[in-house]
Formats: sequence, C-alpha cells, structure tokens
Amino acid sequence: MACKRLVMPVSRLVAVGMMALLTSCSPTSVELGPEPTSTTTAPTSTTSTVLSTTTTSTTTTSSTTTIPAVLPELQFDEAGVPLNGQSNGVLVSDTGWVLPILSGLDGGRHRVWTPCGRQADIAGGEVIFDADFVLDPGHGGSEPGAVGRGGLAEKDLNLAVSEKIRDALVGAGYSVVMTRETDVRVPIVTRAEIAHALDPLAFLSVHFNAGTDARSATPGTEMYHQINRADSKRLAGLLYEETRAVLDQFDVPWVALSDAGTTFRPNRAGGDYYGVLRRPAPVLSVLLEFAYLSNPAEEELVSDPVVQDQLATAVVIAVERFLETDDPGSGFIDDPIFRGFGPSGAGRTDDCIDPVLE
Ligand SMILES: [Zn+2]
Repeated sequence: MACKRLVMPVSRLVAVGMMALLTSCSPTSVELGPEPTSTTTAPTSTTSTVLSTTTTSTTTTSSTTTIPAVLPELQFDEAGVPLNGQSNGVLVSDTGWVLPILSGLDGGRHRVWTPCGRQADIAGGEVIFDADFVLDPGHGGSEPGAVGRGGLAEKDLNLAVSEKIRDALVGAGYSVVMTRETDVRVPIVTRAEIAHALDPLAFLSVHFNAGTDARSATPGTEMYHQINRADSKRLAGLLYEETRAVLDQFDVPWVALSDAGTTFRPNRAGGDYYGVLRRPAPVLSVLLEFAYLSNPAEEELVSDPVVQDQLATAVVIAVERFLETDDPGSGFIDDPIFRGFGPSGAGRTDDCIDPVLE
C-alpha cells in the first residue's frame, strides 16, 4: 500500500489524548450485549491534553474549518446510534475531550460529535485534521474490562501500555491521537468516529485478555484483523510476530485458546464481530490482545513496566515493518473455532451523560 506517512508533513508530531468511553473487546466481554450505556465521568484532568511529548515541534493545523451554507445535523441509525463517518477532523476541547467535527461555525465555534454521540456547538479548543495513528486504550471508567486476581484492571493496563506505545510512536516520528488519556468511558461508536475524523494509517485497539485457563507452552496472544482486509491482516500478523518475539523470552505458565494467533471473528452478517474493527472501517483497524490478564502469572509479567516498554517497542517495530517492507507477518488462523455470532453491537448511547465540553 502507499505509505501515507511519506506524503504527510513529518513536522506534524502531535500526541493528543482524549478521554473516552468504551466497550470492549476481549472475546468474553465484547459486545455480548448492547453496548454499555455511558455515564461518562469527568476526566481526571480538566486541562487540555494536547501534548507535544518527546517531540520538537507541535502541530500547526489550522483552527478554521469550512462553514457550509446549510449546517449538517448528526445522523442516526434506526436504533438511535449515530452513523459513523460524519466528521472531518477533531476538536480537542479546552476541557480535554477529543471531539469529531461535524462542521465549522461562525465565530470560530464548531459543531461536534460529543463523547456520548450527540451534537453540540462549542467554542474554543484546537483543531487537528489528521494523525498517523489512533490508539484506543480499551475500556475505562465504569467498564474495567478484565480484572486480574492480583487486582490489576484491564482498563488501567490498557491505558498504561497505550501511553508507552504513543510515546514510542511519537519518538519514531509519527503523530498519534488517543481515544482516551484518563480513566473515563467512551462508547465504541465514538472511538470509531475519531478514526473516521482523522483517517489514520491504522486504528489500534489495545487490550489484554481474559477467559481461559487452558495451559499452553506458548503465549495466547491474539491479534484480530478486519475480515477480508489484506492490509489489516498483514499488520495484525506483524503485530503478532513482534509481540510473540517479546513474550517468548519469558518462562511463564501461559494460557491460550487452542486457535490463538492472528485471527478474525465474524458476525452474523459476515462482517466483523468486534465493534472496534467494524465501526472504524474503511480505516484499517487491529484489535490487540497481548496476553491473559486473567492468568496470575501473566498478570505479574505484564505489570512490569519493562515488559510494557518491550511490548510498546514491538508495536513500533511491527508498524515500521508494515510500512516499509512486504513482510507478511505470521500466526494466521484461517479457520478459527466458531464461537457464536452474538449481537451486532448496537453501540447504545441513549442514556449516556456527556461531560462538560467547554
Ligand atoms: Zn478488553
């Protein structure tokens, strides 16, 4: 594929965070029911989260967006969930939220997609039109995801590792926006819209797994790719290969599914079961399940910041190989065990309470 990075200003080195909500994706917990409703809690930080971490320059993106003659209204599906693909660019609000932009407004204001998936007209903030990568730390707020027996919550581990991945990617010259930077909940539909708004090279949803106690001689790493997407499959395969190269160093009593690897899971319609893969499309997306937080030995291993750094480095190496080589990756499971279709993941947002945006 064409390397988008080559046509983007390398000076645009921005790491932005956002707060977010979410849903999940460990196979045992993801979208097995209606997406959780979101009572969004206030960000733990109320300052702008536009960062220039480890970079020497910050974005100079214009703060103006086109103001159409007829202002767009947010469009919803029959279930009341906003349709993905309605925004262009994000506004990082003065209160630190990353808000997909529906339209510019007079006076420098913007009509935005709120964390709960509604529209709001707000002032202030900073506009960002694109990013090389959107990182999605899974779960958050009232949705802990998996919780290890030692007490480590997946939402916190996902965020910690995502921050390390962000810093490593920024250090390698890429711009990164995160769907959340604090312990807050953001519906999947909104996380996906941030990808639509920024059109990154890839959307990476970071998770740790739970659900099996089947012992394995090797790690149970799972990298889920979008169905029938060669680019998503190849990136997932490279992420799998590099992650295994890290984890295989450790002598740990691993657990794994018998068909763990670089894999996929269909829904009843033949599309992607997981919302973090289905909703960002056509943006390339991969769902990363590094290891099993539900296995105490693995919980202890991935709690180690040194190991977290190694996983972050593995992601950067995989990304660079994806962009600069034709390496195919590995671990491909072409006929995964059928585990049910489940519901389609409606992304319910109707009783979500939006945070203060301006
Ligand atoms: Zn998860």
